[in-house]
Amino acid sequence: MDLLQECAGAERIGISGHIRPDGDCVGSCLALSLYLAKILPDASVRVFLETPPDIFGDLKGFEDIDSSFPPGEAFDVFFAMDTVPERMGGAEEYFLGAGRKINIDHHVSNRGSGDVSIVKPGVGSTCEVLFDLMDRNLMDRDIAMALYVGMIHDTGVFQYSNTTPATLEKAAFLISFGFDFARIIEETFYQRTYLQSQIMGRALMESVRFLDGRGIVSVVNKKTMEFYGAESQDFDGIVNQLRNIKGVDCAVFMYQTGPQEYKVSLRSTERVDVARVASYFGGGGHVRAAGCTMQGTFHDCVNNLSLHIEEQLC
Ligand code: 5GP
Ligand code: MN
Repeated sequence: MDLLQECAGAERIGISGHIRPDGDCVGSCLALSLYLAKILPDASVRVFLETPPDIFGDLKGFEDIDSSFPPGEAFDVFFAMDTVPERMGGAEEYFLGAGRKINIDHHVSNRGSGDVSIVKPGVGSTCEVLFDLMDRNLMDRDIAMALYVGMIHDTGVFQYSNTTPATLEKAAFLISFGFDFARIIEETFYQRTYLQSQIMGRALMESVRFLDGRGIVSVVNKKTMEFYGAESQDFDGIVNQLRNIKGVDCAVFMYQTGPQEYKVSLRSTERVDVARVASYFGGGGHVRAAGCTMQGTFHDCVNNLSLHIEEQLC
């Protein structure tokens, strides 16, 4: 796909990603907006996202992200990044109403949507998919930083199995622009606030193993969230810590979103295809990292998940 050709003649271009935007989502939306603004200087290029975590505040264009989703906006071209349209929240209607709809993603659960779909499940991040659509000669330091953020977040700083020689070659090109990559990794990936650390400690302490220790689950309920003043972004990293525990094949982290509703994060080491488990419950994601929203009591949810995890462990 040729980005310039797809946007030829467009005056109003919109970009959005999924709700609860993460590093790959924010990075790919901002990198694309910076790139399009460069190759189409006369077009208006706007990014819409639910309020993103402020750890990404150093990325160029972050301040211009619109989180208000005003009604009645119309676009000649709209990009859905790192998501299916159903997970775009307030931007879904912009995408559906756009003259041309382009979906760029790497989730195995995304079957594609819109007029042009570039969905590459074998690629570690949407930022890496986007890198391949850009002309290296037109990249600059700001674009490189945004792409790099997405790549480190979705590959766990180049540790997960979705990291390939091609990923590292692209990352090498990106850091050649000279930004402080060590600081970006530290401040956006590893650093936690005191509050986040406390919640993580509590979640680890209260975790429960199932399936003879091959599964592990922890939950944070509404009351605890209110006590700490915690939001969804404060739980990042907990499920990975659970997965790191020796003997665990599949880790589950849940936080309460309603009286009988939980947001579920799933991670696996090498046996369980968690995208399959999450898809069964209406969610999606990747083979080793996926999520869904489930209704019922905590115990109902765990029992249902456990059945599907166990099926794959036999
Ligand atoms: P996380 O557990 O970090 O929220 O999400 C892990 C992966 O699964 C991410 O790539 C995320 O986009 C995807 N994911 C999480 N929840 C959902 C969901 O409810 N639906 C879909 N389709 N994907 C999800
Ligand atoms: Mn992603």
